[in-house]
Amino acid sequence: MYWVKVLHLLQQRIRTQSFNNWFKPTQQISEDVSSVKILIPSSFFRDVIQRSYLDIITSCIKDAHLPEKELSFVTSEEWEEFRSQHVDSQKVHPNLNPLYTFDQFVEGSSNSNAYAACRAVSDNPGKSYNPLFIYGGVGLGKTHLLHAIGNFVYQHFPNKNIIYVSSDAFMNHLVEAYRNGSVHEMRKYYRSSDILLLDDVHTLGGKERTQEELFSLFNILYQANNQIVLAADQPPASLVNVEKRLVSRFSWGLVVDIQPPELEVRIAILQKKAQFQGITLPNDVALYIAENIKGNVRLLEGALKSLIFHSSIKSESITLDLAHKALDPLASPSLQSYSNFKGLPNLHITLNDILLTVAEYLNVPPDILKSKNNRPHVVVPRQVVMYLARNFLHSSLTEIAQFFNKHHTTVMYGIDKISETIAKDSKFKEQIDKIVQLIKERGKSFENKL
Ligand code: ADP
Ligand code: MG
Repeated sequence: MYWVKVLHLLQQRIRTQSFNNWFKPTQQISEDVSSVKILIPSSFFRDVIQRSYLDIITSCIKDAHLPEKELSFVTSEEWEEFRSQHVDSQKVHPNLNPLYTFDQFVEGSSNSNAYAACRAVSDNPGKSYNPLFIYGGVGLGKTHLLHAIGNFVYQHFPNKNIIYVSSDAFMNHLVEAYRNGSVHEMRKYYRSSDILLLDDVHTLGGKERTQEELFSLFNILYQANNQIVLAADQPPASLVNVEKRLVSRFSWGLVVDIQPPELEVRIAILQKKAQFQGITLPNDVALYIAENIKGNVRLLEGALKSLIFHSSIKSESITLDLAHKALDPLASPSLQSYSNFKGLPNLHITLNDILLTVAEYLNVPPDILKSKNNRPHVVVPRQVVMYLARNFLHSSLTEIAQFFNKHHTTVMYGIDKISETIAKDSKFKEQIDKIVQLIKERGKSFENKL
């Protein structure tokens, strides 16, 4: 089996600890001529594997003389969902997240122009608005809509070549192409697209070579009536350090904005996302979350996840009371004083994910961290997990205590101890910073496509 062969080599090439943490729990669930799907315990694994181990996996594939295949890391929920939605799994575009469809998008007045424009472009690629430029704040559904166009076109115009790429990835591709002399191939690849979905173009600011490359690509695609769709956090005219000629081209077609969703839409989104996971969200709970989280749909989703997490860990049903507990900021003093924690609600991580990261970073096996072993080299990392769980996940003392099978006063003591040490010992704080950074990087919410 493909993945088993990869694992076999991988095991000889990375630290045992890392292998046990991140690869032992994986397992191949499907394989066809071009792709392999691998089951992972949580989406956090995908982030870790993709961020830290892709290169070495690639070299193992080569050395094992295996054919190159698309590797997808999926959680069991994603796999179930995927199977129920796509009986014919051939229909999934390798570059696109199959969960980001028009069906899964909730339309409302804040996004209706963008939504209508995307539908028009999907019905008639290259013929309605070209280019289409979508702009709006973070977490408002721009990436979702780009993928939705791609997924729709893929289903209805199977002969069209669709390329989705973020501007960063485009730039990296270019840098790489320069490095190994394959610029010609790279141009050919992008120029062959019938539909180019280019995300986050605001990140192009100041990158002159990339802009130049994009400029010629744009002209070629445009002249051939191939569809271009762009997304950014600013309208074209406000993009900083992007060449005028590019900015002007960005506005040749249609420019539409997405605004933060209004209350009704936020409620509808929550209900749709909950339903998708097979959970019934009581109306008062949906209203409570929607009233408290306004600007960013990703945060709404984060709140829902946190609520579901609390309900599952406590085996309690989802009620307004539980929502109050789960979503109360609960800001502990250490949370407020520790600036690194700002912006973390975006992350989709679990207590176990934190355990694994700390275990790897401090080189203690995760099962020892959860054991009764009370030697100092185990106790401190365990307390670090407690501290991070409290601050990252707002886990209650009871939850953390249950997780480690300890008394809640032990947890409280551990968290205080770490807070104190951080305040006193700058070396120690640096280490914690690094772990926080690692978890942040690994846990970045999206980018996790099947
Ligand atoms: P952006 O690219 O604008 O930062 P994303 O497209 O990544 O935002 O959206 C963030 C999350 O919010 C995604 O999981 C997406 O599915 C969800 N989302 C945003 N807007 C909507 C909407 N109108 N309906 C359903 N889900 C939405
Ligand atoms: Mg985006």
